[in-house]
Amino acid sequence: MSTSHSQKITYSPAYTIVPTYECFNRCAYCNFRTEPGKSEWLTISQAEKLFKQLHNQDVCEILILSGEVHPLSPRRQGWFQRIYDLCELALAMGFLPHTNAGPLSFEEMQQLKKVNVSMGLMLEQLTPELLKTVHKHAPSKTPEVRLQQLQWAGELKIPFTTGLLLGIGETEQDWWETLEAIAQIHQRYHHIQEVILQPHSPGNQQTFDAPSFNPHQLPKVIFQARKILPADITIQIPPNLIKDDQWLLACLEAGARDLGGIGPKDEVNPDYPHLQEQELREILQPAGWELVPRLPVYPQYDHWFSVNYRTI
Ligand code: SF4
Repeated sequence: MSTSHSQKITYSPAYTIVPTYECFNRCAYCNFRTEPGKSEWLTISQAEKLFKQLHNQDVCEILILSGEVHPLSPRRQGWFQRIYDLCELALAMGFLPHTNAGPLSFEEMQQLKKVNVSMGLMLEQLTPELLKTVHKHAPSKTPEVRLQQLQWAGELKIPFTTGLLLGIGETEQDWWETLEAIAQIHQRYHHIQEVILQPHSPGNQQTFDAPSFNPHQLPKVIFQARKILPADITIQIPPNLIKDDQWLLACLEAGARDLGGIGPKDEVNPDYPHLQEQELREILQPAGWELVPRLPVYPQYDHWFSVNYRTI
């Protein structure tokens, strides 16, 4: 690529908080979960202390990433309320919350919209075949349940981030079908702001015995995704999961334009530390790419909110 001009690559200066690591699902590739009832939940006063420390750092987004309490559990209401309260606190302290807490009821989503500027849920893969393998013990990973979340987010006008997890036993055809489904739902509601293409990257805790997704295949997937997805959806890739600088640049050439939330820790892939902003700039700049920060909500959705979060 010529260095005479620069194109923009965005990222979100973010910090991730985890209300709880406990999760009633058992995805075979998970490096995050603990058993239900086995982890303390993040308290409001702990979060307040944390947020105070973040005030003199360049953090804008608070990503609220939670393990799931079963929808029929008597602890579900308390779990949901804790997430709501954490979002409300983040907002009150000048941050922009983005929650990803697994499938929610319509009412839960409606409530969380009041204290989030956007939300997210990975579609991962639509094929039901994975329910026999990596998702055998993960009822939340039923494809219909996840597709319905995308639809409800659209009905509720919640700017949404979704994505694919690549290399968990699916076929190439499955990628295109999952992307087509996202494209179709977006054409109805125009609410998907980003699609993440996340390569499976083995970690220490998982039981799924498979290699990393071949990074050399990623540019091809991005190139095809760019053709399938509407132009107003940004393709996001996690730079800490693409070890080779040349392949990271190849992903940008293929059409990726966002690097997601960059913060101290990738909670989902704790074995893969994030490169910090300056290190990323050093890779991108010589190739003519300019790294620029963005908010966790894209400007086209400003009119979906009653709160003017841009003045926060
Ligand atoms: S990947 Fe997510 S849903 Fe699956 S077990 Fe881990 S935390 Fe739970």
